[in-house]
Amino acid sequence: DTAPVQRALISVSDKTGLVDLARALATRGVELLSTGGSAKAIRDAGIAVRDVADVTGFPEMMDGRVKTLHPMVHGGLLALRDNANHVSAMDEHGIGAIDLLVVNLYPFEETVAKGADYDTCIENIDIGGPAMIRAAAKNHGFVTTVVDVEDYDALLAELDANDGQTTYAFRQKMAQIAYARTGAYDAAVSTWMADALGEAAPRRRVFAGTLAQTLRYGENPHQSAAFYKDGANRPGVSTATQHQGKELSYNNINDTDAAFELVSEFLPGDGPACAIIKHANPCGVARGDTLKDAYQRAFDCDRTSAFGGIIALNGALDGDTAEVISEIFTEVVIAPGADQAARDIFAKKKNLRLLTTDGLSNPALGGLTYRQVSGGMLVQDRDNGAIALDDLKVVTQKAPTDAQLADLLFAWKVAKHVKSNAIVYVKDGATVGVGAGQMSRVDSTRIAARKSLDMAEVLGLSAPLTRGSVVASDAFFPFPDGLLTAAEAGAVAVIQPGGSMRDDDVIKAADEAGLAMVFTGMRHFRH
Ligand code: 5GP
Repeated sequence: DTAPVQRALISVSDKTGLVDLARALATRGVELLSTGGSAKAIRDAGIAVRDVADVTGFPEMMDGRVKTLHPMVHGGLLALRDNANHVSAMDEHGIGAIDLLVVNLYPFEETVAKGADYDTCIENIDIGGPAMIRAAAKNHGFVTTVVDVEDYDALLAELDANDGQTTYAFRQKMAQIAYARTGAYDAAVSTWMADALGEAAPRRRVFAGTLAQTLRYGENPHQSAAFYKDGANRPGVSTATQHQGKELSYNNINDTDAAFELVSEFLPGDGPACAIIKHANPCGVARGDTLKDAYQRAFDCDRTSAFGGIIALNGALDGDTAEVISEIFTEVVIAPGADQAARDIFAKKKNLRLLTTDGLSNPALGGLTYRQVSGGMLVQDRDNGAIALDDLKVVTQKAPTDAQLADLLFAWKVAKHVKSNAIVYVKDGATVGVGAGQMSRVDSTRIAARKSLDMAEVLGLSAPLTRGSVVASDAFFPFPDGLLTAAEAGAVAVIQPGGSMRDDDVIKAADEAGLAMVFTGMRHFRH
């Protein structure tokens, strides 16, 4: 099931490695056909190459829109070499077999990412390239298709290992990659067009990804898993670089993402902040005078849960902070940078993974999030909603103080990143109780308060830190009970969306309990 490679068609937009490949093929006796720019580069390097226009008898025309769309090309790619009819058709029309296709496409995705205008994007939709790729890949029984520069070496190694031929296994593997490429390419075009149309819910939608990392396993050891990049090239999405530690696991990536998205809510200009995440929920978030201070205050929210947690910082990690972080077992630390002192300290902790980014992620960024459900996919806008001081509506007789308002907004930002039902108690810019993922809001309120009580014991305090705290609820209190539980725990001010049928009852209960309460008019369910 090997097939000889005697004639190759090369047509590439990205000319990286082109000349080396062409030379290597020519040295191995492969005849080269090529299109305008690619042919020129090959010829300029002193390598013999035949123009596709010479083969088709047609010049490249219409600004390159039509170059290779011709039976002399597609017949050569598609003909079954072991089919008498196909072979006689080739003979009759003088069509020569093409055994190897090397194509990379017009840079449509990059053009969009650069913010090019509509017409420029349209001109960057490759037509002949995908047509050839799909034809060659279909005929992988005989034809080898290479669409990635990174596969050139593998191709040459394959030819050398097989006497100038390729194996079926190799051609099939390359064909699979080829169809993923044309699929992703059209996905990018369609997604861009949906954006251009302003269609939030186009009737058909496609998704595509490129393997970034195979993972040891998924959420559990019996599940296999991998990380794919979507290649959406969104400006403002920062990617992380790992400096040390074991390979990231599926859960690490998921939790690290949650940690970094949360800490990115706190602009470095507003001071240092730290978030500690366990199982995608925060178990401590705090501001501080320094990053070390922020970390310690976040840690004091729930020291028990913070063990084996994931820490995100909104500023570059320094030695002092690294020192205190090293005191307990932590899975991952992510920050926009890390100084040498911090790196030296972490170097002693072989298992600790340190990730740095080129900035914070932008919470206001648009884009979509996906969740697979039986029979399909749920798609929604990213939750990029934000509340400012001016958006708050005081609904109680008592108004919050300025200090309470600052804590209320802090609590609100944290609550956005806690699984519903989310209840977050905050005091002096630090969470002091987090209730996550409960099926009833009143339970979340109780659990958060009880955890704070436990921490008071650990910290040797006479009263839990929820005394005199403020509390955020990610969605409205449907009844006064949750609110009253928070008041019992010592909360004195409340932030919640409002909008319940029983808002009046809840406001009345707040007034009777002497609470100050503000409505945001926006909720942050997170399931
Ligand atoms: P070159 O730089 O060699 O002139 O052009 C290479 C590019 O042209 C490749 O990206 C290839 O996919 C693309 N291409 C090849 N044939 C056609 C065609 O018939 N129509 C269009 N629109 N693009 C083509």
